[in-house]
Amino acid sequence: MPNPLVVANWKMNGDRAFAGAFFSALDLSGVVADVAICPPFPYLMQVVESAGKMGSGKLSVGAQNVSAEEAGAFTGEVSADMLGDCGARYAIVGHSERRTLYGESSELVAKKFAAAKGAGLVPIICVGETLEEREAGRTLDVISAQLQAVVDHAGAESWRGVVVAYEPVWAIGTGKTATPEQAQEVHRFIRERLGEAGVETPLLYGGSVKGSNAAALFAQQDIDGALVGGASLDAKEFTGICRAAG
Ligand code: PEP
Repeated sequence: MPNPLVVANWKMNGDRAFAGAFFSALDLSGVVADVAICPPFPYLMQVVESAGKMGSGKLSVGAQNVSAEEAGAFTGEVSADMLGDCGARYAIVGHSERRTLYGESSELVAKKFAAAKGAGLVPIICVGETLEEREAGRTLDVISAQLQAVVDHAGAESWRGVVVAYEPVWAIGTGKTATPEQAQEVHRFIRERLGEAGVETPLLYGGSVKGSNAAALFAQQDIDGALVGGASLDAKEFTGICRAAG
């Protein structure tokens, strides 16, 4: 069984003062789950420093995005090596906001996934269907195709040492959460699709997770944690989610 993992995705929110205040209010005493904070790039090193000061071996830092390229003339991009050099452990790839707002294809996401792994980071790859796709009964086909792009690019062996987040697009930032049963069905499917590696792979649910619905989601057999957007901006609420994870 993978250790539970709760990941905060601050998206494009906060500033230096926010990051400082967040760590003053975060209380991970008694939390068993691993916890990761993904701030905007400019605050990465500040957050690495704050996380280090908390002295909890359970707390680490991640980036919200990573370049597929290693180095060179790619203005505005940040490489996986740079993230590792700044102290990041994780890199989110394929978040639905990147896929839809920035046109990132599953092929590009797969390249980012491989770049992160190649640099020693743990990629957190996000997959999920739109409302239209769910209503058309295509949820599992969509997830399957998103996962297959990674296998095509990096091989089935590449599932070891990674994190997969199921994030139904219709539940992100909308206040609508998948029911625990809806989420479990997709998580079980993902676990099976990952083959042997799936047994050890943390499978996170993301989509309007908050203190009040976290425990019911975490009670499902194949939900190992959460990727949390909005509720991760409130340190007390986020603490509650971490406690619910174990
Ligand atoms: C996310 O950003 O990955 C997310 C799940 O956001 P929210 O929790 O706000 O739905």
